Amino acid sequence: MFSLSGKKALIVGIANSHSIAYGIAQALREQGAELAVTYLNEKARPFVEPLAQELEADIFAPLDVTDTAQIDTLFDQIEELWGRLDILIHAVAFCPMEDLHGRVTDCSRQGFRMAMDISVGSFLHLTREAEPLMADGGACMTISYFGAEKVVENYNVMGPVKAALESVTKYMAAELGPKGIRVNALSPGPLMTRAASGIAHFDQLLDMAAERAPTHQLATIADVGAYAAFLASDSAKNVTGGVHYIDGGYHIVG
Ligand code: NAD
Repeated sequence: MFSLSGKKALIVGIANSHSIAYGIAQALREQGAELAVTYLNEKARPFVEPLAQELEADIFAPLDVTDTAQIDTLFDQIEELWGRLDILIHAVAFCPMEDLHGRVTDCSRQGFRMAMDISVGSFLHLTREAEPLMADGGACMTISYFGAEKVVENYNVMGPVKAALESVTKYMAAELGPKGIRVNALSPGPLMTRAASGIAHFDQLLDMAAERAPTHQLATIADVGAYAAFLASDSAKNVTGGVHYIDGGYHIVG
């Protein structure tokens, strides 16, 4: 039905083999895409490097999205090696623990700024850098969550942060559509990852999702990967600006 053969993809957000970004990278690679994989810092490197090797990544580079110089260096490297980019995967989020665990009302200014900058601002910074390399069009994707739309207990300030991420997705989709650059958000149901373990009582969220979702199945990183691979392909060339639920239908009952 579709192939990603010859397509060049930048994957930002692999921390380990449980990461959503890893599930997406595996699916893109299986369909023939060539990959650039980033790691957050030297502490993260030993966990990400074997995965990048297994994925036969052409580029393996450090990227802390708060570091503009690192973003510039990475895109220079991509331009030099590939001369273009077809797919951008942004699977990054952060919020200081004390702000994540408190009421939205009490979120500190500093915590709010950091959460918005790392989890939302970085998507537009990376997309802006990708734009000139996507002269033949491209697909940019980020990862949202249902807490953007409805109040989900314990999701706290990440709800408003994801709402902003979904809005940024729609505005960029409108702006970049005429250039053939598509921008979409994937919204998986809860998955046990390192980022998720920071959310209080996350196990209860998993139980509730499995119980209430029409399929009674939790989403897997392979499910997210399969959907992302389709969206990255030319078969999805007319799909943009969407929030795509991969949650067993939980969003219609939740
Ligand atoms: P994860 O911990 O595997 O991935 C989060 C990634 O963010 C890590 O690779 C981490 O290094 C990266 N990151 C944090 N700060 C960064 C920075 N300053 N610069 C660069 N990278 C940074 O967890 P995950 O669940 O795979 O998270 C990926 C995305 O999926 C996040 O946006 C998360 O909010 C979203 N999401 C997760 C779930 C879930 O239940 N796990 C559900 C819906 C959406």
